[in-house]
Amino acid sequence: MKKQLKERLSSLAVNPIQWDCPLAPYTSFGIGGRASALITVESAAELGQLLKCFSQNNLDWRLIGRGTNLLVADKGFAGVILIFGKGLSEITLKEETGSGQSIIRVGAGCSLTRLLAWCTEHSFSGLEFASGIPGSLGGAVVMNAGAWGGEMADVVHSLHTMTPSADEEFLGCEELEFSYRSWNNQESNGGKRVVLATDLILQKGIKEEIAARCRDYLQQRKQKQPKGLKNAGSFFKNPPGDSAGRLIEASGLKGKKCGGAMVSTVHANFLVNSGQATAEDVLQLMEIVQQKVAKDSGIILEREVHFL
Ligand SMILES: Cc1cc2nc3c(=O)[nH]c(=O)nc-3n(C[C@H](O)[C@H](O)[C@H](O)COP(=O)(O)OP(=O)(O)OC[C@H]3O[C@@H](n4cnc5c(N)ncnc54)[C@H](O)[C@@H]3O)c2cc1C
Repeated sequence: MKKQLKERLSSLAVNPIQWDCPLAPYTSFGIGGRASALITVESAAELGQLLKCFSQNNLDWRLIGRGTNLLVADKGFAGVILIFGKGLSEITLKEETGSGQSIIRVGAGCSLTRLLAWCTEHSFSGLEFASGIPGSLGGAVVMNAGAWGGEMADVVHSLHTMTPSADEEFLGCEELEFSYRSWNNQESNGGKRVVLATDLILQKGIKEEIAARCRDYLQQRKQKQPKGLKNAGSFFKNPPGDSAGRLIEASGLKGKKCGGAMVSTVHANFLVNSGQATAEDVLQLMEIVQQKVAKDSGIILEREVHFL
């Protein structure tokens, strides 16, 4: 990147920019090359200025959350990676509707773990299904993250977003379209819309009961998911009426390895980094799994993990 452009970006960014930044530490897989720059953004105004600068200078960019559903290429990303800082991670009680329901505004950078701790502390129920999902709220909305029969679509009331051309837009519940592990309003003006904040609709509940449900879900996760090996959660989406894990296990692929990437021996839908896995290892393993499952069952597994 040219010195002049670097200076311009530095003048717009609130936090120091990390140039030539390794991305593996920003993902739960611990895989991937470097980005030209990484900027921690603190406000909508700052984001707007940066997006305009990217567009004027034809500079590629991507916003990521906690990188828990992400496979970063070995060659990295020739552009700017944005993440949200504390200024875009706040939690505020916006409105109590009187019918036991409340609207909570949450910055997209807030981690689900911190949000659930806040909800429990303030006795708000509805989000317990997300206990143990390790992402940010923004990432959870984009993925329509879910577990135990619940999903983000059940609790999202409206979204504060920014288009790639830096226009702020509010999307009400009647405009929002979610499907299985996907938010369908993200494409905007040929680019991807950014979620800045989400209004969640939650119910007043009993603190001890909310805490008990969260603990129970966490406990069940510990029993079912691999421990100690880096991963990005479920790698494939469940096909209608079946489970990707069951199909992969039925194809005898538990423990199958490609370089440092392995099909978990605990949960077959988790591809794990068993040491020094590269993105290429993961991609090769993904193809082997897809081909074997398609041959054995006729079902083509679609990946859930996003690529960068
Ligand atoms: C151990 C483990 C268990 C998991 N269990 C579950 C589970 O039970 N259920 C489930 O659904 N998922 C699960 N996941 C996957 C993952 O945690 C969720 O999909 C999570 O919601 C992703 O959030 P993130 O912030 O990490 O997003 P990232 O991985 O950083 O990003 C995912 C995508 O969202 C985009 N994005 C992120 N933030 C924004 C934003 N603010 N605006 C616009 N785009 C954005 C990124 O560009 C990317 O395309 C699990 C993952 C792990 C590692």
